[in-house]
Amino acid sequence: MLYSHVLVAVDLIEECREVADHAMKLAKALDAKLSLLHVVEPLAMAYGGDVPMDLSMLQQQQFEQAKERMQMFAADYGLPDDRLQIAFGHPRQEIHRVTEEQSCDLIGVGSHGRHGLALLLGSTANDVLHGAPCDVIAVRLGKKS
Ligand code: AMP
Repeated sequence: MLYSHVLVAVDLIEECREVADHAMKLAKALDAKLSLLHVVEPLAMAYGGDVPMDLSMLQQQQFEQAKERMQMFAADYGLPDDRLQIAFGHPRQEIHRVTEEQSCDLIGVGSHGRHGLALLLGSTANDVLHGAPCDVIAVRLGKKS
């Protein structure tokens, strides 16, 4: 079998449906399993480190909202709940960790095909590729427009 378990990293915005649709077709053609993973980034990380207040309640809410958004995002794909994963942390690290934990052999991410300054600033797709424990497919986003 070429690939047996595809892990699709989704940021849960509509644009990312292109990645999930593509990976779903690929998984069907290969008779592979498919899981979706969304990583909730800690608020402290988003604000660059020290935040002088207790963020645990807010983070719990963030997590619950992500679960709901994942359910809505995945509704069309008919995946069982154990294939819908939510992790907490840095996207690259969590995507790599879950890949290994779940023995995934292909990661799907969206790519904006950035160039210039935006490329220098990096993207999740770039980040995930570096040190990935398996193959990565970067689905170009916004091809249709
Ligand atoms: P970006 O860094 O905005 O160019 O995101 C590119 C792709 O990275 C998205 O299409 C997703 O596949 C993936 N991605 C970005 N953020 C997340 C996240 N928080 N959780 C899971 N995947 C993500």
